[in-house]
Amino acid sequence: MEQQLLIYNTLSKKKELFVPFTPGFVGLYVCGPTVYGDAHLGHSRPAITFDLVNRYLQHLGYKVRYVRNITDVGHLVADADEGDDKIGRKARVEQLEPMEVVQKYTNSYRRNMTQLNVLPPSIEPTATGHIIEQIEVVRKVLEKGYAYESNGSIYFDVEKYSHDYHYGKLSGRNLDDMLSNTRELEGQEEKHSGADFAIWKKAQPEHLMHWPSPWSEGFPGWHTECIAMSTKYLGETFDIHGGGMDLMFPHHEAEIAQSCATLGHDSVRYWMHNNMITINGQKMGKSLGNFILLDEFFSGTHPLLDQAYSPMVIRFFMLQAQYRSTLDFSNEALKAAEKGLERLMKAVELLDILPVSTNSTVDVASLDKACYEAMNDDFNSPIVVANLFDGVRMINAINDGKESIDADDLVKLKKLYHDFVFDILGLQQPETAVASQQGILNGVVELLLNLRMEAKANKDWATSDRIRNELTALGFEIKDKKDGFEWTLKK
Ligand code: ZN
Repeated sequence: MEQQLLIYNTLSKKKELFVPFTPGFVGLYVCGPTVYGDAHLGHSRPAITFDLVNRYLQHLGYKVRYVRNITDVGHLVADADEGDDKIGRKARVEQLEPMEVVQKYTNSYRRNMTQLNVLPPSIEPTATGHIIEQIEVVRKVLEKGYAYESNGSIYFDVEKYSHDYHYGKLSGRNLDDMLSNTRELEGQEEKHSGADFAIWKKAQPEHLMHWPSPWSEGFPGWHTECIAMSTKYLGETFDIHGGGMDLMFPHHEAEIAQSCATLGHDSVRYWMHNNMITINGQKMGKSLGNFILLDEFFSGTHPLLDQAYSPMVIRFFMLQAQYRSTLDFSNEALKAAEKGLERLMKAVELLDILPVSTNSTVDVASLDKACYEAMNDDFNSPIVVANLFDGVRMINAINDGKESIDADDLVKLKKLYHDFVFDILGLQQPETAVASQQGILNGVVELLLNLRMEAKANKDWATSDRIRNELTALGFEIKDKKDGFEWTLKK
């Protein structure tokens, strides 16, 4: 851990040296998905960004407790304090239990994350699993006087809070603007002021999910779950809280307010936010027809896509931009990423067969240093990738005999590529992995069928029939031919 890591803190708006609260341990909390539909491109950016953060911290030797929640109640349509719950609405549309909706889309989210080689979090808590903890947060906010009850719902009193703390310090918004922007909205009659936000809502008849509380049969406000779960699993102060920039206001601003209101201080040391994705220069949106699901990228089935793009191409493309920059998706850019990834992976394969010389004409140490410097500068993955491509030219030149490398340097170069390409950037060669599994399976089946041929030749019908029957039971179709056999695996 001799590396000096700088993290851009969205709260202070500058890069700060990373020093964890507990030496060797990092508490990382990231706002996870609201599971009411299949994951789209927008979901992949925070997932990949904080996977990079998690992987790099682990690479540096930290023990990381990575908590990424699943929002399964309380997130209302249009991120508002009134109206349908997103899960509840989907449950009605799909004629499912709300928890069936949650399970279905949690499963599909996890499947997509595995495809993108995003490591699972250490803890994946759900909002519905932490109702008691959320009621406790609400109770404490009320006790400290920063909330009020209105018709069975509890609202956070932003104006009162603003006398003692700075509401808007993360997002840079000021209270007067917030008040003038929210005054017009409907459903505000229960609130003292338009800037207030619900921390407990009394359930209306259309709400399928509700729990008893001291104030009403209802459900927690969306902004309360993360403070309840981060405190429970990471403590009253923890190192890094991450999420997409779209969550800065009101979600994260409201989290800060609740932690200051209940604990008297911020619980987060470093706030990190990834920037947004555009598609062909436009913001993603259902109404714009450019809302592309991850599965549609992988299968190429969306009308805006020229072809299918593998999960690794999507991942590599994302890592070619720094997480704080916007990133624009287009077919051209993805095809370029596909070619680049192929070139990088070819060079990685070459590493195993490079000729070794008695002396090196290449500078592996400088390349290694440049890769770490980039990562230490706020996880600057595009610079890492650029350095790795410098290394690709180096590898190709050694392979062509234009440069030479000694045994020591070759070991270092292999380690560098292994660490950065696979461990830190989390890239994979999926086709080769699948192909090699298929190759192993083919080999085993051929071996068994050759043993069966031998058994038949020896008139050992019992063994011959047993191999045939058991392979058939496993789903293989075996056809005997005059001079051998044919087999297929039925799907
Ligand atoms: Zn959150």
